[in-house]
Amino acid sequence: MERSNLADFVGYCGLYCNACGIRQGKIRNAVENLHGIIASYGFDKHLPELSKYEPSFKHYNEFEEVLNGLVKLFGNCPGCLQDGGDPNCKVRACAKEKNYRTCTECNEADNCGKLAPYREYYEAARKIINKDDIQKYAEDMQKKVDEGYSTP
Ligand code: SF4
Ligand code: SF4
Repeated sequence: MERSNLADFVGYCGLYCNACGIRQGKIRNAVENLHGIIASYGFDKHLPELSKYEPSFKHYNEFEEVLNGLVKLFGNCPGCLQDGGDPNCKVRACAKEKNYRTCTECNEADNCGKLAPYREYYEAARKIINKDDIQKYAEDMQKKVDEGYSTP
């Protein structure tokens, strides 16, 4: 990955996208693993007929649809600035509307309810970011990612 582009992966809330388990492919990999296990046991062919023993198996096709939907929406996340992640993210919508690069520019941040679920990332970013050193924050975070760091 180009080091010069790392700042493009700092989300509006301060979360560093390359550290996000979703962007790292955790959902895609989990679904692929599950599909492999399902196929190796032949569950994809036999579960519907076993629904007399376990009624939830009747919904196998819907379950497949949901798994495929998860991969479709979150399997190849391009990062926050490219509209990846939660398509309904209120933090991103708000910061974009206010024309902030990140919430660290906002004087409402200390009491912002929209930011509450991401406060841990915001606080980490706030210590380093101002308009000029977002690149340093990104480089510090990428170093952690290269050493194995990942958010849940
Ligand atoms: S989509 Fe929202 S929660 Fe995710 S990184 Fe962007 S601002 Fe943060
Ligand atoms: S109001 Fe909250 S979500 Fe909006 S820019 Fe400020 S800190 Fe970010």
